[in-house]
Amino acid sequence: MASSHYEVLGLSCDSSLGCIKKAYKERLLSSHPDKTRNDSSSVEVNKIQEAYKVLSNPELREIYDKSLKDDQKKQGLHSSGDGLDEYSLDEFCFNPAICEYCMDCPRCHGKDGFHFSEGTLEEHCQERASGGFLVLAQCSACSLWLKVNFDLAEEYEQADV
Ligand SMILES: [Zn+2]
Repeated sequence: MASSHYEVLGLSCDSSLGCIKKAYKERLLSSHPDKTRNDSSSVEVNKIQEAYKVLSNPELREIYDKSLKDDQKKQGLHSSGDGLDEYSLDEFCFNPAICEYCMDCPRCHGKDGFHFSEGTLEEHCQERASGGFLVLAQCSACSLWLKVNFDLAEEYEQADV
């Protein structure tokens, strides 16, 4: 699969315009043909310029972001959690007896359709680009996937009380 414009510039999908400009200059400098005198790097420069042209233009970027998301959906990827309903861990009940977070399923209304232990949370959480963490959880009754956002440090503090 071809590299995305973000990968070409070494950026994450939520990078600011300032970051994009900075990354563009750095990439361009490090792969300038005059500097390296090699054909493959001129191909690279084209890619960098194309990536920058799209990402530095808010309208083009929006269209591009949308096409990226559509591609991910087509591939059935759940790794990023894109397109899933988001919930906060605050909306879950913590059951100290079994050390599990529980929530009734918003789709099938199954009692405690979502439940996972603190261990599962720590093991499977991913860092969010915007800060904090997320874990992808699945309803045990209807297989609905949800994205659960949380802040690990805060949860630890609460657990210590
Ligand atoms: Zn369910």
